[in-house]
Amino acid sequence: MARIIVVGSGVAGLAAAARMATGANDVTLIERNGSPGGSLIWATPDTLTLPAVLRDLFVKTGGRKASAAGKLEEVVDLRPIDPVRTYRFPDGSSLDLPNAARGASKDAFDAAFGHGAGDAWLRVVDHGNRAWSAVRPTLVEVPDAGRRDLWRLFSSSAARRALAPRRTLRQIGEAAGVRDPRMMRVLDEYAQAAGAAPETAPSVIAIRPYIEQTFGAWRIVGGLPELATALYERCLKRGVSFRFDTEVTSIAAGSVTLADGERLSADVIVAAVDAHVLARLTGTVKGSKAAPADYSPSILSIRLESRNATETTPATETTERAYETVLFGEGDEQPTIRLRVAPERPNEWIAYADVALSMTSQDAEELKSAIAKRLGIAAESLTVREVFTPGDRERLTSTPGGSLHGPAISSLNSAILRSPTVQPIKGLLHVGPSARPGPGIAFAALSAWNAAEVLKPTRV
Ligand SMILES: Cc1cc2nc3c(=O)[nH]c(=O)nc-3n(C[C@H](O)[C@H](O)[C@H](O)COP(=O)(O)OP(=O)(O)OC[C@H]3O[C@@H](n4cnc5c(N)ncnc54)[C@H](O)[C@@H]3O)c2cc1C
Repeated sequence: MARIIVVGSGVAGLAAAARMATGANDVTLIERNGSPGGSLIWATPDTLTLPAVLRDLFVKTGGRKASAAGKLEEVVDLRPIDPVRTYRFPDGSSLDLPNAARGASKDAFDAAFGHGAGDAWLRVVDHGNRAWSAVRPTLVEVPDAGRRDLWRLFSSSAARRALAPRRTLRQIGEAAGVRDPRMMRVLDEYAQAAGAAPETAPSVIAIRPYIEQTFGAWRIVGGLPELATALYERCLKRGVSFRFDTEVTSIAAGSVTLADGERLSADVIVAAVDAHVLARLTGTVKGSKAAPADYSPSILSIRLESRNATETTPATETTERAYETVLFGEGDEQPTIRLRVAPERPNEWIAYADVALSMTSQDAEELKSAIAKRLGIAAESLTVREVFTPGDRERLTSTPGGSLHGPAISSLNSAILRSPTVQPIKGLLHVGPSARPGPGIAFAALSAWNAAEVLKPTRV
């Protein structure tokens, strides 16, 4: 039985703790905040992709009896989203993107952007398919994959073609036949939602629309906090010990030191924190404020209450909204706004936009006005009920600048080969969006799987 310390109780830390405790290890999870969940606790309607990763997690940690509320669907109410999202463009046109329906997606693109757009979209998705097939067995689901595996992969011309390492997502779009600038903005949005700048987003980002369009997009009724609770309860069931309101101030081989000076020994330490936080804890970088310039942006999130739309808005506008609406601005200087509305709470809208740390709660009113303008409704029909700034997020998770996805993605390397699961310090593993294989809940949970696999043959 190995003594394992997990630092951080976001989705990656909870998933790693549950998996490792199932392997009859003695697992303690240390969390700076007073409750588990990290980013998950700011209740927002969420979009989950690759639910198979979470399904596997709950089945494998569910105990010997196959039922016993072991499955994902038994612990959270998981539902497919259709349409996946609605894109609204400044000229008033829009696109409803269907969920995991190839033919319907082709028709939707043709209808929105003209004949041929649907085929161009499918070519982008197919590029994502080839890229995913190349990286999944070699880099993604290989716990200690590294640069040497990437170079080995490049020795195959089929893999080089599939990964197109020197091309951007936009170039892949152009080659696939994307002609309409509005359609290119749809591709750009996949890049931005993954923490990449549209101009430099690498072509491998095409795996995101492929995964979403092939395995579907899902939501959890009640939002992400429901997932945090389910993961926490699963950890308790597997015997994980929790220490809340406890900050780790340094990590060394075989031990962590807490803010009160206490030193805890462990055979394995799993850092479920951002890469920059980890570097600070291991002493690789000094100072808490020195955020790397190339981090993905944070977001300003607001919770809005929408009054009965028929009283205050044009007759065409009703309170019934798509689950997610992407509201594009006029040009690059106007940030894209994402609006999410859970069907159970149609008058509660959650909106967010990528912003820098300097954004404050005063900017929430501006964000509200921009939403109203882009939807063509009266700003007075919306009331800001809650604001979550990048600073709030930085305080909640310690991630530099409150960055949503950790280090920005600007190349194949930074997209897939992020901070290694197996760190240079003996017995130290790294999980979460800034570790391999990348941002988002599904990939964070996959990073925990990777870490647990490393432990199996006692390779650390
Ligand atoms: C508003 C919003 C909407 C989102 N929507 C989606 C979505 O729809 N789909 C999707 O896939 N993803 C979404 N995400 C992203 C997703 O929530 C995150 O990628 C994921 O939750 C990050 O998990 P994590 O394990 O890295 O940990 P984090 O959530 O970053 O948590 C890290 C934890 O470590 C703790 N910690 C840090 N330093 C220390 C220390 N020194 N000692 C002890 N504890 C420490 C922190 O307190 C924190 O609890 C969204 C995020 C936000 C904020």
